[in-house]
Amino acid sequence: VTFNRPVRTLRVKMVLLGSSGVGKSSLALRFSKDEFRTVSPTVGCAYLTRVVHLSDVTLRFEIWDTAGQEKYHSVTPLYYRGAHTALLIYDISKKETFIRAQMWLKELEKQYIPGSTVIWLVGNKGDLTQDRQVSVQEGQALASDRGLSFTETSALSGDQVSELLLAIAHRVYECVG
Ligand code: GDP
Ligand code: MG
Repeated sequence: VTFNRPVRTLRVKMVLLGSSGVGKSSLALRFSKDEFRTVSPTVGCAYLTRVVHLSDVTLRFEIWDTAGQEKYHSVTPLYYRGAHTALLIYDISKKETFIRAQMWLKELEKQYIPGSTVIWLVGNKGDLTQDRQVSVQEGQALASDRGLSFTETSALSGDQVSELLLAIAHRVYECVG
């Protein structure tokens, strides 16, 4: 006898935060379509989607990208309200984006009850090894200090991008499932 257990689908709001130019839109495109191309800096705000199947649940990610408001430091809390997961993205070749990520983190920590939102620190542009200004150890240290997970990615090569999405899916399911 075979039977199919209906698989639940959970809607997951993911928001991408970080300085202008760190690769938020590029990562959103990788997560959603596994593509890399130049994305207009003003495209965004609407969300891209990606479905991830785990063994007993389907997660439908709604990946929210900014429309460049971060340039003017005017990303409103409305943007990340209700997010199940927030990616705090910096560029490993630009130290100031790492410092800015720490400021984002403070803002997020004001808004959220710790534990209810999966916050992930992401060092993007991992392919720019020659221009590296933030070491892997610095990223890891910040993450472990604040109880976050940490991954270095490259939206350009796609390195660690699908692994990251899957790891987030598991963690979100543990938290909200
Ligand atoms: P956003 O402003 O955070 O949305 O950043 P974008 O996604 O628009 O990317 C800014 C620039 O960085 C663009 O020229 C991208 O092509 C480039 N970029 C994005 N991700 C990577 C990456 O992983 N490696 C490299 N080398 N360049 C990247
Ligand atoms: Mg963008």
